[in-house]
Amino acid sequence: MADMRMVDLPSGEQVPALGQGTWHMGENQRRRADEVAALKLGIDLGMTLIDTAEMYASGGAEEVTRAAIAGRRKEVFLVSKVLPSNASRAGMIRSCEASLRRLGTDRMDLYLLHWRGGIPLAETVAAFEELKRAGKIRHWGVSNFDTNDMEELLRVGGGAAVQTNQILYNLSSRGIEYDLVPWSNERGIPLMAYSPINQGSLGRERSLQAVAERHGVTTTQIALAWVLRQKGVIAIPKAVEPDHVRENRAALDIELDEADLAELDRAFPPPRRKEPLAMI
Ligand code: NAP
Repeated sequence: MADMRMVDLPSGEQVPALGQGTWHMGENQRRRADEVAALKLGIDLGMTLIDTAEMYASGGAEEVTRAAIAGRRKEVFLVSKVLPSNASRAGMIRSCEASLRRLGTDRMDLYLLHWRGGIPLAETVAAFEELKRAGKIRHWGVSNFDTNDMEELLRVGGGAAVQTNQILYNLSSRGIEYDLVPWSNERGIPLMAYSPINQGSLGRERSLQAVAERHGVTTTQIALAWVLRQKGVIAIPKAVEPDHVRENRAALDIELDEADLAELDRAFPPPRRKEPLAMI
């Protein structure tokens, strides 16, 4: 197994190109032990970036994360998200403190605005910066921001401190390649690809079978390797099945060649014009 590939944040810090998602974790007490074990296995394999949110299972996913990182907080790059309705000056401080309690830590590595809501960006940025000064978060970023939202963010005072934009990106959702991907690359702002295997459905795509057979891997691994092919992209698949966790880690070592990429482009054509940002 090759070493974990790293991606540079604008701050200069490096984070793993492959992390772990937690959506739907913490929803069912009977699955909790398996969820904690999966995240721990992922950390053992180097997938030390964990993405969670106050929204997931109303805090339950943060509690699962707490159990998974207990005793090894320093190994982990911890990401959580604030709901847009809580992204005001006072609301964000309350939300962040509640997330930190559920996560069992006194500092988050990266705190994201889950999607854009009604609170002015300037106020949200000011709240993020206040949390940074208070030592409760180390970095902040956004999620589900299209290119025009990012441009607006960079015009807001302090907005240039954004460290990432977490967006839907996978073979069946390539719209951002038209403008958001090049825009972000030019500015050195990494994209964090959520639902990189389209919530598992890309594994059932027959059009991925031939490429998967050539590499001796699964169709899901091809879909994940395709997201990971790009510099400046971090992928955060969610997996509870231990075999899935191992396969996802192994996908990092798959090198897709030009023939593979051309075949995937035929099955999932890149965008030819601007498309509205897709979200789940
Ligand atoms: P995903 O990671 O694309 O897919 C997860 C599904 O794929 C699960 O059903 C999982 O099954 C299955 N799976 C995982 N690895 C597999 C493998 N190697 N082979 C076959 N199946 C596999 O979907 P997602 O959870 O929507 O997205 C990932 C993370 O992104 C989320 O968990 C969340 O942290 C984040 N996210 C953020 C936003 C946002 O608005 N910012 C929105 C959506 C998601 P098992 O669990 O049974 O292993």
